[in-house]
Amino acid sequence: MSIDGLLAEIRACRVCAAALPLEPRPVLQVGAAARILIVGQAPGLRAHNSGAPFTDPSGDRLRDWLGVGPETFYDPSAFALVPMGFCYPGSAPRGGDLPPRPECAPLWRPRLEPFLAGVRLRVVLGGAALKWTTGEQDLTTAAAQWRDRPEGLFVAPHPSWRNNGWLKRNPWFEAEALGHLRAQVSAALSGPLS
Ligand code: SF4
Repeated sequence: MSIDGLLAEIRACRVCAAALPLEPRPVLQVGAAARILIVGQAPGLRAHNSGAPFTDPSGDRLRDWLGVGPETFYDPSAFALVPMGFCYPGSAPRGGDLPPRPECAPLWRPRLEPFLAGVRLRVVLGGAALKWTTGEQDLTTAAAQWRDRPEGLFVAPHPSWRNNGWLKRNPWFEAEALGHLRAQVSAALSGPLS
């Protein structure tokens, strides 16, 4: 199957429609030659409405962390943007959004993975993405190991404003780890994109 065929199947998915607050609208970006994979959580309401991932202040912060502008970020030959849940899960009673729907990643990730063979760098955002990718449970511990990780994997909190407190408590992330991330992004994007 081609990537376009798989994306058409995903866009028609209604597996957890009954648990979603709005009609399913899978929001992701995948090109067969992407160099960098962003493993996010789930689209927020703004991304649900726009149909494009990270069209919100979290996206502005993420692009700043990566050191890229929207043109590069939304180029499918540069970035694959694949959250753990493709549809907006609704808001949580105490603020923020609910976690990604648990049905989504087991259903679609294994089928998407063959199209991510060209990925040189995986950026893992938040706890659900971390557990799926490496099995680790503690995001702060995992992110703090940025120096010791093999090239090609970077762990970060989700760039949501809700993690402003985390960023304040862990100043090494912005002061040191982000420089390492930007260098890896630059290396992954070197050479002509196809
Ligand atoms: S969240 Fe995933 S599994 Fe649920 S309807 Fe959307 S695409 Fe399908």
